[in-house]
Amino acid sequence: MINLADYKNERQYKTVFFETFGCQMNKLDAELSLGLLQEDGYSIVDKVEEADVILYNTCSVRQHAEDKVYSHLGALRTLKKKHPDVIVGVLGCMAQKDAQSIFKRMPHVDLVCGTRMFSRLPELLLKIRNHGNHVLAVDEDEIVDVKRIAAYRPNVYQAFVTVMRGCDNYCSYCIVPYVRGREVSRTIADVKQEVMELVSNGCREITLLGQNINSYGKSLPGNITLGDLLIELNGVEKLERLRFVTSHPKDMSRDLIRTMSQLDKVCEYLHMPAQSGSDRILKKMHRGYTAGYYRELIQYARDLMPTIKVASDFIVGFPGETEEDFQETVCLMEDLRFQNCFIFKYSTRTGTKAAELTDDVPDEIKKKRNATLLDLQKKISLEENKKLIGRKLQALVEGASKSDPNKLSGRTRQNNIIVFKGQPALVGTLVDITINEATDLTLFGTM
Ligand code: SAM
Ligand code: SF4
Repeated sequence: MINLADYKNERQYKTVFFETFGCQMNKLDAELSLGLLQEDGYSIVDKVEEADVILYNTCSVRQHAEDKVYSHLGALRTLKKKHPDVIVGVLGCMAQKDAQSIFKRMPHVDLVCGTRMFSRLPELLLKIRNHGNHVLAVDEDEIVDVKRIAAYRPNVYQAFVTVMRGCDNYCSYCIVPYVRGREVSRTIADVKQEVMELVSNGCREITLLGQNINSYGKSLPGNITLGDLLIELNGVEKLERLRFVTSHPKDMSRDLIRTMSQLDKVCEYLHMPAQSGSDRILKKMHRGYTAGYYRELIQYARDLMPTIKVASDFIVGFPGETEEDFQETVCLMEDLRFQNCFIFKYSTRTGTKAAELTDDVPDEIKKKRNATLLDLQKKISLEENKKLIGRKLQALVEGASKSDPNKLSGRTRQNNIIVFKGQPALVGTLVDITINEATDLTLFGTM
């Protein structure tokens, strides 16, 4: 039974401002958390000034992402002085990594909630309201899954589904295994159940998420693979499209590429980060493959699925990266002609293996290499998109275009965005669009 004081408190704290930094997995955690909070009676606001609870779902992959959150938190000091009852919380990777020290650096923070504790958010917030003390919840062995039923979903037709959490790879530069823990896969039955529920609520396209999705199943009994999961989900009625991210070249098998090519719902799209084109650097990164092997994998996928598009990630300025190493990355990018690439300047993460190496590439050089790859990729994306002019492509209509609200925006199987004229009633359906214009980021067409 709730007492009167609790009830009064509860009535007072019912708006939440929630900002997410980082990867798709964080965005999905945000959806799930907001779903839980909505179910608990919270309404979502988009200004910190209107919020009773301010939550930041954080990323630790690069220093820059952490600095941004600390600067946001710092800016809340005045607000918190004026309104001491407002609850400020740090969630996710930074919370897991910095834990107690966040309270030391930012004493006005009330809640630090790690990557495996999201499902307890309503309860943790209630605890703060009732007792007013700092609450630290970063115990790694706590509940992992938040049930989807409660999810707050801004896009009904497209959904992300986590199929595994954590990562066992320990790439030498990466903090993820330390903040997200060991790999744990959900069972096929569990994932299928969630997918079927989403589809029965109108969802048409599912993207399966895992930091290292090609090793899906390793923690399950019975030699289960990602291929098995794809085969099972391909049979879900009324589901139109399936994608999966992020692929690791070391764990990407030819078997899986063959399975992809045989399943009609699996889209012709791969996000498979190369990180570098230099074997010397790949070795220092503990990536477990060579640039040659990476090229072969992509060639194999293109042989079986000629329309497939590949996206990649690269890190520039890894310790010891010479101009020659960098030119090998440029060469890989020129040869493989990715659909798009995410390019990052190397950032030392304390506790990782690479942090033991000297961060010896000057920031000026990192910036220059970053700009070189961005410019090259922009040029390639534009050239590749222009090749699609005159072609008819299938788009899943997602809603009004952000750049022109009078037009619709859809996504192709290859993950290109297409903007075109059409009735709002088309949202959520598949339409064929003839492409007549292209930029490096967007295709434009007519029905
Ligand atoms: N699990 C995915 C994989 O292995 O490809 C990606 C995980 S990570 C969140 C996303 C990207 O951040 C990586 O692909 C890498 O390019 C980049 N990244 C990770 N650690 C980094 C670091 N210390 N400095 C710069 N970029 C980093
Ligand atoms: Fe980080 Fe490597 Fe795991 Fe990706 S595979 S999350 S880069 S350790």
